[in-house]
Amino acid sequence: MTSQAAAYATAEPLAEHFDVLIVGAGISGVGAAYHLQQQCPDKSFVVLDALEDFGGTWLTHKYPGIRSDSDLYTFGYRFKPWTGPPIATAEEILSYMNEVIEENKIDQHIRYQHEIERASWSSEDNTWTIEGRRTDTGDPVVFTANFLWMCQGYYDHKQGYTPEWEGVEDFEGEIIHPQTWPEDYDYKSKRVVVIGSGATAATVIPAMAADCEHITMLQRSPTYFIPGRNENELADQLREIEVDEEWIHEITRKKILHDQNLVTKASFEQPEDMKKLLIEMIRPLLPEGYDIDKHFTPKYLPWRQRIAFVPDGDVFAGISAGKASVVTDEIERFTKRGIQLESGEELEADLIVTATGFNISVLGNIEFVVDNKPVDFANTITYRGMMFTGVPNMLWVFGYFRASWTLRVDLLGDYVCRLLKHMDAKGARKLEMALREEDKDLPALPWMRDDNFNPNYLKRSMHLMPRRLEKPEWEHTQDYWKEKDEIPAIDLDAEEFKYS
Ligand SMILES: Cc1cc2nc3c(=O)[nH]c(=O)nc-3n(C[C@H](O)[C@H](O)[C@H](O)COP(=O)(O)OP(=O)(O)OC[C@H]3O[C@@H](n4cnc5c(N)ncnc54)[C@H](O)[C@@H]3O)c2cc1C
Repeated sequence: MTSQAAAYATAEPLAEHFDVLIVGAGISGVGAAYHLQQQCPDKSFVVLDALEDFGGTWLTHKYPGIRSDSDLYTFGYRFKPWTGPPIATAEEILSYMNEVIEENKIDQHIRYQHEIERASWSSEDNTWTIEGRRTDTGDPVVFTANFLWMCQGYYDHKQGYTPEWEGVEDFEGEIIHPQTWPEDYDYKSKRVVVIGSGATAATVIPAMAADCEHITMLQRSPTYFIPGRNENELADQLREIEVDEEWIHEITRKKILHDQNLVTKASFEQPEDMKKLLIEMIRPLLPEGYDIDKHFTPKYLPWRQRIAFVPDGDVFAGISAGKASVVTDEIERFTKRGIQLESGEELEADLIVTATGFNISVLGNIEFVVDNKPVDFANTITYRGMMFTGVPNMLWVFGYFRASWTLRVDLLGDYVCRLLKHMDAKGARKLEMALREEDKDLPALPWMRDDNFNPNYLKRSMHLMPRRLEKPEWEHTQDYWKEKDEIPAIDLDAEEFKYS
């Protein structure tokens, strides 16, 4: 195995070779680079990203108030203590990532403005050829690698999802999707309607409410929220008695994960009780007599979609102060002045914010080819939501939805490094996941069970996603609490691992 990045000439243009190629310099790609460097110091690697800087999600999104909805004790890496308030702004997350990159000299391995378009595997020489284009100059780039670590996230960074509505062209105001928020956009004194009720809507509304004339959240159906103070009592107490930050990080993570496990279990074992509890948490934050049934009682059971944490209940404070309101209705069409609702009401607006989510991108919209045959991921079966039948030497970091995404970045970081060392020890150059005899007759099912996790963006794109079998080895269970023990214990010589 090469220990240095060795450039070698093929045809035009010149291809550089690395042991491992990481796609994406978001929180997953930077975490992958850290683990690889720490655990496999002899491996050469490069990180490629289409954007002009690191951060992924936290660089792309620039809408007012942009912040995490997970606590940073668990959204942060296990190896780098988080010392700020639990819910962090994009700026704070980028600054944390910057420290990780600088402290570990990861920057020398990252190439920005490299958009990958094609990845082709050859079993003849057991390498991936990765082709792309520089987004600044348009020049083609080519790399070869033995292992492909896909950290490209799960949605298209170029454009958010906007449903088609009748009459959009008639609207005389402005329409902005939060994913492509114009820098320094002035919304002062505007009448704003935000379409959507997820974490993004719950973030932009309190951030904009003070400055615009009025802001309305227009939702088809309600979402669950957990209000709470943006602080962690345990961490603050430990800090007061001067415990080391490494310990505080570890202990606080454990406590948060323990509590989240109880909430997750209760959501599946006593969903109706949990539903009641969540709704009762927001009641005191809303004006007397507020129609909670209509505006804040979701139709689905808790935790089938992400529950947004609302720091200091700020979205509810805006409603109580009369600066923000909620309308639960269906859009009939856009009009010159705003939005005509099915109930007959017309919502007037100068600005409409379409907080309607994103488009799933299966493996970064990259064209995958294995031994000259195009790969349709919808025809593959996933091994634990990370590898895929018929696609050798490749792993996708798809995190958790009910727990912080990054928990899986650390778990899979350990796993990939263990796997690479195992392959070296065996002298294997290729690993392919293959169904066992006992698996072959099982029906191939959609990526995610509807009763496990069912947000609209996933439902819209389920037909494009890899498939699963009804067995923990062949699905992304989204269960961090099981996987934290299962993944480190995976037998790398089990029957489904085919080495050559
Ligand atoms: C607004 C918002 C808030 C969120 N908040 C939370 C939260 O609080 N907690 C949580 O757990 N999750 C949250 N999520 C989910 C979040 O996306 C993940 O937690 C996490 O940031 C994903 O990190 P990632 O590195 O895997 O992917 P991303 O952040 O999506 O980064 C992927 C990177 O890969 C690059 N890339 C993609 N395709 C290509 C290609 N073909 N060529 C080159 N480069 C490519 C992109 O440019 C990007 O930089 C949030 C998502 C959004 C949109």
